[in-house]
Amino acid sequence: MTEHEFILAMKKVIEFVIDFYRNPSKYPVSTEIKPNQIFNQLPKTAPEDPQDFSAVWKDFNNIIIPGCVQWQHPRFHAFFPCGRSYPDILAETLISSMGTVGFTWSANPAITELDTAMINWIGRALGIPECFLFRGDNCSTSDGGGWIADTASEAIFCAVMAARHVKIEEEVAKLEKIEEGKMTESIKDTTMKYQQRAEIMSKLVAYGSYESHSSFEKACKMACVHCRPVNVFEQDDWGMRRKTVENEMEKDKQRGLIPFYLHVALGTTSTATSDHLKELTPLKEMYKVWVHVDAAYAGSAWVVEKNRNNEGIDKVDSVNINLHKLFLTSTSVSLFWTRRQHEYKECFRIDPAYLKKKSGANDLRDWGIPLSRRFKSLKVYMLLRMYGLKGMRAYINRITDMTDYMESLIVKLPNIRKFGKTNYGLFCVQYYEEGWKEEQVNAATNHLCEFMNNSHKMVLTHSNVRGHDILRVCITLERTTKKDIDESVAIFKQLLDDFKKEKKT
Ligand code: PLP
Repeated sequence: MTEHEFILAMKKVIEFVIDFYRNPSKYPVSTEIKPNQIFNQLPKTAPEDPQDFSAVWKDFNNIIIPGCVQWQHPRFHAFFPCGRSYPDILAETLISSMGTVGFTWSANPAITELDTAMINWIGRALGIPECFLFRGDNCSTSDGGGWIADTASEAIFCAVMAARHVKIEEEVAKLEKIEEGKMTESIKDTTMKYQQRAEIMSKLVAYGSYESHSSFEKACKMACVHCRPVNVFEQDDWGMRRKTVENEMEKDKQRGLIPFYLHVALGTTSTATSDHLKELTPLKEMYKVWVHVDAAYAGSAWVVEKNRNNEGIDKVDSVNINLHKLFLTSTSVSLFWTRRQHEYKECFRIDPAYLKKKSGANDLRDWGIPLSRRFKSLKVYMLLRMYGLKGMRAYINRITDMTDYMESLIVKLPNIRKFGKTNYGLFCVQYYEEGWKEEQVNAATNHLCEFMNNSHKMVLTHSNVRGHDILRVCITLERTTKKDIDESVAIFKQLLDDFKKEKKT
């Protein structure tokens, strides 16, 4: 591609970006394509000869776009918002232009320095306590810090792995103390040490509510530790309570197992409800567990102070928040903080000769699984500078106001009842008829969601909270207006009427 061809192509891309922003309803909100349809339209192999941008552009429009679900469409009320903003698009362009990697400080100091600064900027913007930040001033240990992971799943896996590492070392130290004096050479032997560690590992148990995101269970599966789901109840807003966790931990201890990790969700995936953090934190000392807060979705809303229902956060060990959900940043930017930086990093540190450490430098490779890293902090830096915290607060307030407005209209519709509370720009409803049993409500709610999604006029997500089927509704488009909401509600109402008619026939 020549410079001239690039300029012409970029012009087309920019026109597309502007049009996509200006006309969010231009393309259908969802797609009617069938599985393998795009795959079958593509050639079996990559082209041998270079092709013109015009040919690629044609296929992008004719093959790829029709297969896209439009997450930035005003009728997209499913899953959660997927961040997007002009500063983010600018940063993405610069990142790909620079073609640089930042695994160590020396590989590209600017990446490390900006990542480090953004951990603090976002931390302070969201009210994350200073002891989680780099060189936190108000923290006696000053062992805080963090990194930018790709996804919450990755951040949560790293938290589980670090907690596992810390607990195994603690247990090994205990055993070595018992063995002190009579420790034989064979115990020092590496194979024996691995066996010892494997035995401890087989006893480790992680705890998290049934409402935790599945990435917690996946992390436990990958870490080969027991995952103990903890029950939650309606009277507690489906949030995990200390007594229930304590009961589970006691039972496990009696079985000879070792509690090591507690997963606290602030903003669950189904209803964005929160575990009762403040009363859970004493479990950290009582059972010597690593407490991690998953605020992947809700954490971004903490930029507005009144949304911070996170009392006790200063007592936990680590926290993760996805900026690619409710913070206008495109995938994947997931921030992770810990106030036990040194213990956390012990799990991941490895020092090959070709990755020499610069003394005093924060090497990003020590923080998790990946070695290569994109310059993701540039996205955060440009967004924060160009929107300012005022702009971010205005965005969050708009999303939560619009959600309240939509909820107030939807719950007035006949046969629709609210489920749980409205949290962080998400509310949930069920379809019901007078005198119905829960199974009937569940089946109808499920069908209603399918019916609405099959109409391709709007997109919603179904979920299930401890046996209750629900329809989740959230606002995803940054510039959503009351007019957009009125249109969504009118379509919802029409589809509801059609659903009822179809049900009768
Ligand atoms: N945690 C919560 C509360 C979530 O809602 C989600 C995704 O929706 C995740 C974790 C997983 O996020 P990611 O897709 O970044 O792995």
